[in-house]
Amino acid sequence: MSNPIINNLRQIQETIPSNVCLIAVTKTVSVEVIQTVYEAGVKNFAENKLQEAIDKQEKLKHCRDICWHFIGHLQTNKAKKAVESFEWIHSVDSLKLAQKLDFHAQQALENGVIGKLPQVCLQIKFLPDENKYGWSVDEFYQDLSELLNLKNLHFRGLMTILPTGLSSEEILSAFQGVANVASNLRKNQYFPPDFDQLSMGMSGDYSLAIEAGATMIRLGTIIFGDRK
Ligand SMILES: *Cc1c(COP(=O)(O)O)cnc(C)c1O
Repeated sequence: MSNPIINNLRQIQETIPSNVCLIAVTKTVSVEVIQTVYEAGVKNFAENKLQEAIDKQEKLKHCRDICWHFIGHLQTNKAKKAVESFEWIHSVDSLKLAQKLDFHAQQALENGVIGKLPQVCLQIKFLPDENKYGWSVDEFYQDLSELLNLKNLHFRGLMTILPTGLSSEEILSAFQGVANVASNLRKNQYFPPDFDQLSMGMSGDYSLAIEAGATMIRLGTIIFGDRK
């Protein structure tokens, strides 16, 4: 009766501290497999493409306590749909996007489309990487005061994705760098005390992310195998 995916899941769950939230990244994974993992106790799922996610959500409506996280780059013209379909958005990567999300969150709340504000993480591009979105640390501090004006997003923390090809030392030091930005923000009380999340770590680097203080890890391949 052993399902390899559930075995992978159990092995990972054994090694991660109980305060770290495992988010199953299910891009390209079928709804049948998602349902199996849900039945094994995973409640947090992440997708990186809006339409693929919405189609799956529709088919998994009966799994009532799934919490959906969005982790892909969002175009501003999809901000409304994202706000309406996801409890969490980890990949808020520009002021312009944050402003759009804020606007649509206010509308959706007013119209009763959502019951509470979206929880968001701000995506930091800690190291230069032309293939990735996000604020550099300097850019982030430049936009901070404008971000703090947005009252319809529930800012929960920082998110990061590292460039490929780094050594373990470089990975750990970059994750620690992001954690330092977060603790500086906390120390200065820019955000309310529940700005306490660090969404960092994927299949290849999640142990180092946890070592640096990750509270949410986003795992795909290591649970589901290689994507097609
Ligand atoms: C695909 C993806 C992941 C999961 O990556 P794996 O290496 O398969 O674990 C995590 N975060 C983001 C933003 C992703 O796009």
